[in-house]
Amino acid sequence: MSLPPGFIDELRTRVSLSQVVGRKVTWDMRKSNMAKGDWWAPCPFHQEKSASFHVDDRKGFYYCFGCHAKGDAVSFVTEADNVSFMEAVEILAREAGMQMPARDPKAAEKADRRTQLAQVMEEAVKWFRLQLKTSAAAEARAYLEKRRMSPAAQERWEIGFAPDQRQGLFHALTQKGIAADLIVAAGLCAKPDDGGAPYDRFRGRIIFPIRDARGRAISLGGRSMDPNARAKYLNGPETELFDKGRNLFNHGPAREAAGKGMPLIVAEGYMDVIALSEAGFRATVAPLGTAVTEDQLRLMWRISDEPVIALDGDTAGFRAALRVIDLALPLLEAGKGLRFAILPQGLDPDDLIKAQGAGRCRRCWRPRSPWSTCCGGAKPRAASSTAPNARPRWTRCCVPR
Ligand SMILES: [Zn+2]
Repeated sequence: MSLPPGFIDELRTRVSLSQVVGRKVTWDMRKSNMAKGDWWAPCPFHQEKSASFHVDDRKGFYYCFGCHAKGDAVSFVTEADNVSFMEAVEILAREAGMQMPARDPKAAEKADRRTQLAQVMEEAVKWFRLQLKTSAAAEARAYLEKRRMSPAAQERWEIGFAPDQRQGLFHALTQKGIAADLIVAAGLCAKPDDGGAPYDRFRGRIIFPIRDARGRAISLGGRSMDPNARAKYLNGPETELFDKGRNLFNHGPAREAAGKGMPLIVAEGYMDVIALSEAGFRATVAPLGTAVTEDQLRLMWRISDEPVIALDGDTAGFRAALRVIDLALPLLEAGKGLRFAILPQGLDPDDLIKAQGAGRCRRCWRPRSPWSTCCGGAKPRAASSTAPNARPRWTRCCVPR
């Protein structure tokens, strides 16, 4: 649904931000100056006892001096009630007595279709999770145990298992009355060229559900249990629901954690994100099976002004860092930056945490100036970027001592 021009502005003028916010906070009456439309309260988005959360009722904007949360009535409702932009607009419009514009039937149809596909995906996630408890998944469970992923963590990340069957999932879903074409459209099964029955895309793999920023299941990632598999990691294909280059693994929880002041860390894969999150770095995301894209960089900058790109300390990791730098330079704006944490050779974040503890990693994300790095002790190294005018410097980070 699209809104007519001026609708949001009208909405902003009609609702009183202090009233909207007032339902979630207790105002500090000594600090507030109502006559001036100046309101202060302990922040609803981060833990604190003092009142650093400021509402400018006349301008209709809020800002937290603690966690830097900021925005207007719509973004406040989005964050505080955890609803989508459009839902927040609807809530506020109702309150302001404004009529929501009629839904465009074509857009409504498209939204319904996406909801349907997300429901199919949700059913698949449930089924895969059940499979992880079966005897066929013994090897997968042993692998997760070897990676020291606790049963509680497996629950949190909704880890599943795809048995090595041609139509395991397909039969399970069709038995629930889900149409074959929806299963194919969700990217869960593929249709053979000869027109035969659809077959499961994920077979003999550990399954990681991929959710969008709102928490809807939009695709799956799978790690092969077969050492000879062509691809160790496999993502679902691009669908109406899933655009690889415009989503991030763990987007929603990371955004929330970053809002509470955690550094945003960009790791390489699912296992890294899970390991880092479980070690306390909850604002960690990863691109989805591709190199970081422009859209993903923009998403990251919306979450944090200075994301930390954590890369493996091998040649591929350095090459990836250069690629991100080339991508980022033309997009840089005032106040936005990137930091790089290059891990010791041969270690990924998971290994590093296990070998040296979370504290060793924490030193890497400590804020310093953009383009610089992390570990105070390491010697600076000039990096030769392929962009001739820009010579960002970094140091190797997390060098074990
Ligand atoms: Zn705050």
